[in-house]
Amino acid sequence: MTKIQMVEVGPRDGLQNESVLFTTSQKLEFIGRVVDAGARRVEAASFVNPKMVPQMADADAVAASLPRRDGVTFIGLVLNKRGALRALEAGMDELGAVCAASDGFAIRNQGMTSDASLAMCCEVVRLAREHSRPAQITISTAFGCPFDGEVDPFRVVEMARLAAASGPVEVAIADTIGVASPGEVAALVARVAAAIKPLPVRVHFHNTRNTGLANVWAAVQAGANIVDASLGGIGGCPFAPRATGNVPTEDVAYMLGRSGYQTGLNLDSLITSARWLAGVMGRDVPGMLSRAGVFPQQSEALIA
Ligand code: ZN
Repeated sequence: MTKIQMVEVGPRDGLQNESVLFTTSQKLEFIGRVVDAGARRVEAASFVNPKMVPQMADADAVAASLPRRDGVTFIGLVLNKRGALRALEAGMDELGAVCAASDGFAIRNQGMTSDASLAMCCEVVRLAREHSRPAQITISTAFGCPFDGEVDPFRVVEMARLAAASGPVEVAIADTIGVASPGEVAALVARVAAAIKPLPVRVHFHNTRNTGLANVWAAVQAGANIVDASLGGIGGCPFAPRATGNVPTEDVAYMLGRSGYQTGLNLDSLITSARWLAGVMGRDVPGMLSRAGVFPQQSEALIA
């Protein structure tokens, strides 16, 4: 069976975009639950300006109490060098540096041009290496920008090539605003994979236009073997109707598992925890497996 590694990004991308503020201990329970369900890489916090992102203001406290386990890597997301230094100081196992393929998004989200954001990412990879820690680079707005519109795939491929040259563990392409379609995903993943090989391609999708799972499938068929997802598919702020969450971890794991891929995740545990998450947030989560249940009932055999 082909292995697909799933990176749980709910504690960061999910919670960062939710209006419900989780306490530090709720975040740690969230992280502990996904680790218990088999997640081996977890994006646990982002080290960003707490004035901009109050949901992540306790990143250092979360980092200090992570449920450490052999073989589990906790990732700290950073948008600049200052954040990288904070994440290293906080003891994060891996840094996730983010750049943007479009100037409009890079300037608004990171206060720098697209080119400058890529240069920053490469510097973060070098900084991490000086501290003997791995780092990865994510290219956001790879399929479209909320401000600049269409993004040229050639630009993304060139950014991926330059990002790969700095020595990250992987390069990711992210559909930050959920506009991608499976055909575009297949084409871009194939081009990026060819440009950065032997480095792996990670993909990051939001289900904003209901193409999330189809995009994951297209990406995997095109050669991506690392997939970001958030438990329950959280991240859709109820006060921002156009913002929606990541692809749901349990739905992706079900789809891949039934299709013969190995994710190492336990569906029953994920479902139980997605329901716990819904309870904490006081509303249903977007993911559907926790409502419908697994098929067939004894899921253990499917996900081993
Ligand atoms: Zn995202």
